[in-house]
Amino acid sequence: MAELIDGKQVANDIKEELKKEVDELRGKGVIPGLAAVLVGDDPASETYVSSKAKACEKIGVYSEVIRRPGDITQQDLAEIVKDLNHRDDIDGILVQSPLPKHMDELTVTLLIDPAKDVDGFHPHNVGMMLIGRPAFLPCTPNGIMELMRRYKIDPSGKEVVIIGRSNIVGKPMAALLVQKAPGANATVTIAHSRTKEIASVCRRADILIAAMGVAEFVKGDMIKEGAVVIDVGVNRVEDSSKKKGYRLTGDVAFEECEPKASMITPVPGGVGPMTIAMLLTNTVISSRRRLKQAR
Ligand code: NAP
Repeated sequence: MAELIDGKQVANDIKEELKKEVDELRGKGVIPGLAAVLVGDDPASETYVSSKAKACEKIGVYSEVIRRPGDITQQDLAEIVKDLNHRDDIDGILVQSPLPKHMDELTVTLLIDPAKDVDGFHPHNVGMMLIGRPAFLPCTPNGIMELMRRYKIDPSGKEVVIIGRSNIVGKPMAALLVQKAPGANATVTIAHSRTKEIASVCRRADILIAAMGVAEFVKGDMIKEGAVVIDVGVNRVEDSSKKKGYRLTGDVAFEECEPKASMITPVPGGVGPMTIAMLLTNTVISSRRRLKQAR
């Protein structure tokens, strides 16, 4: 039976640590502030933004949600971002994706001041991460690194297979794991939809990270005995026995993989809570820099 990696507990520990830091910053006259821009009425985005705002409030971070209808122009959105860049009370800016189809996400990301890009999506921060001089690390991959540190999973010299090559999870995950640095030094393979013999690629993994968005894709016969399995996926699967009519499931068939794995993350309660904890961490880092600059 695998040890369960309790992301919810670790995220709560991190939030408690951050709350102390926020109290200290407040004592010095700095209130960390996070602004989230939400365009349109996508229900999943609304849920993500509200849970980020709630998490901020719980640890004493000022949070502001700027809501605009889906037909706002790219120019108007640009003005909102530029205004937030100049505000002294805002340390972190995030623009919730997906944006409506008439907008270009990269153009909007490029407008965010890299010093306030707490999502770590700006190409400046992506580049700094690649060369091992990070400013802000992207929250989900960084959350996974933090989970590994706290559970004493050392990827050094291990075979890590990541399924998924998105810019927000798969690629930055690989970039962090291959760094020549403590807590990294892994041998990394990225698998994707064009990968041949994906099951046998996955079976090579000492650490398997599934970030693809396909419900229960990773079956028991795709993992090596004793592997560490990290499930990033969040998928809605119809389930009439549930009040909402669906249940959440990861990219890993948990029941099949758990007996073979040495450690495994659940969904929900694994990687998800860590993403928010790392967003808060980045916001506090940013406000600490503000305090330094003010001195
Ligand atoms: P994405 O942009 O849709 O990328 C999915 C990746 O998986 C792509 O690289 C795709 O390959 C690959 N893929 C899809 N189907 C595949 C298949 N059958 N075989 C092999 N590879 C396949 O997704 P994402 O934004 O990275 O998110 C991935 C999952 O993580 C989603 O379920 C998302 O909801 C979840 N997520 C969770 C958190 C969290 O905080 N827990 C944060 C972010 C994302 P191609 O490139 O070849 O198309």
